[in-house]
Amino acid sequence: MTSERTIRCDALVVGGGIAGLQAALDLADQDFSVVIVERDLSIGGKMIRLSKVFPTLDCSSCITTPKMASAAHHDNITILTWCELRALESANGAVTAQVTAMPRFVDEEKCIGCRKCEYACPVLVPDPEQGGFSATRAIRIPFSNAIPQVAALDPDNCMLCGRCARACPTGAVDYLQQPREITINAGTAILATGFEMTGPEGKPQYGNGTIPNVITALQMERILAPHGPYNRVLRPMDGMEPDSIAFVQCAGSRDLSMGVPYCSRFCCMYAIKQAMLLSGALPLADIVIYYMDIRAFGKGYEQFYQTAKAMGIQFVKGKVARLQAQDGGAVAVHYEAQEGDGVSVDSHDLVVLSMGVVPHWSPAGICEVSTADDHFIRSVQPSLSPVRTDLEGVFVAGAASGPKDIVDSIAEAGAAAMEASNYLTTVSRQQG
Ligand SMILES: Cc1cc2nc3c(=O)[nH]c(=O)nc-3n(C[C@H](O)[C@H](O)[C@H](O)COP(=O)(O)OP(=O)(O)OC[C@H]3O[C@@H](n4cnc5c(N)ncnc54)[C@H](O)[C@@H]3O)c2cc1C
Repeated sequence: MTSERTIRCDALVVGGGIAGLQAALDLADQDFSVVIVERDLSIGGKMIRLSKVFPTLDCSSCITTPKMASAAHHDNITILTWCELRALESANGAVTAQVTAMPRFVDEEKCIGCRKCEYACPVLVPDPEQGGFSATRAIRIPFSNAIPQVAALDPDNCMLCGRCARACPTGAVDYLQQPREITINAGTAILATGFEMTGPEGKPQYGNGTIPNVITALQMERILAPHGPYNRVLRPMDGMEPDSIAFVQCAGSRDLSMGVPYCSRFCCMYAIKQAMLLSGALPLADIVIYYMDIRAFGKGYEQFYQTAKAMGIQFVKGKVARLQAQDGGAVAVHYEAQEGDGVSVDSHDLVVLSMGVVPHWSPAGICEVSTADDHFIRSVQPSLSPVRTDLEGVFVAGAASGPKDIVDSIAEAGAAAMEASNYLTTVSRQQG
């Protein structure tokens, strides 16, 4: 595949989550030209998919969407979505990246975001943007506030009936679209590739993902989101309103068997947040958080935890050993509480797992940035300049270097933008 397009810019930002967006905006506001490369169909990262955010309980999409729009409308920012980074090199004060634009089977220039293709498509598929709880079409705009508002066709589910192409008023559907290579020549790069969650599949004691009313915390975020799959809190198996909900903390972290020995840092706080939101949505429901320690590390977080206790959310200090499906869709939680008498069993209508946080991307074979023992990108000066990597001119921001909440991710993005800006100025002075 040959390079079809070359883009020159001052800074390349890899990852369009909240950290990448903030770093890009900070640089663009200083008049640097920035290219954001995002591997997803939309920018926004995890934050655009959350319900509300701790500790303020602000609506997450209401505060993320304006950032996404600012980046999209900024004269100094170019956004490339559905693009995979293939190689990134830094030498002599310049960064060169090879990126593959994957086929959407819809021409980005022609698509006007009218969704007529989506309405015409007869194929229903589980919607990954709604935790798989509701259906979407084989060709679609991924979610209502996605940026860009461009449809994409899912070739695994498309049956080539041609209805979308006939419905499209601009002739944008292109079943034969091929991947395109893009070369980016930049002065510096910021890696803001974020995190991913481990799945319940590696946890036989928690049902390996097969117990219907055991869901992940990201799925619970969708159930609680204003534009969620049900518009109310229902359990997925049978649409029943749950009377009793349990959260299992450290379900995938602080766990050698999952390869995640470290603390995933923000799970205690999001479980408390979700419990509070549930208690508002279902005031009569019993909500229990099974935990090892509560790590309320940030400003206002301890107060948030105390408020949850005052609201009647129960906190049981103990490790959950096993989950088991029961008749009628309930889930038995086997646990040993610190203040209990051996193993106890309680039944809940719905169980939420706080899985482990792992890197979304590995630089192996793509760029010579090294990773730490936890596989996140290694910061070479963790105390003095946590955004520096060991590759000159390449910086890191947000959860790409380890689990981080939104506040810390944004603060770090600002620091990475500042370091990148200093680097650009120094190199340009040296090169005369
Ligand atoms: C269930 C849950 C609830 C949460 N609730 C809260 C909360 O209430 N408050 C709070 O402060 N924090 C919360 N968090 C944490 C919050 O999601 C993170 O702090 C935040 O998303 C980190 O932002 P980021 O940009 O670093 O990473 P991400 O949001 O992961 O974004 C990274 C982006 O980079 C892209 N990317 C990855 N690799 C590549 C590549 N090779 N090329 C191009 N693009 C790439 C990804 O597609 C993604 O868009 C929660 C997390 C979870 C899981």
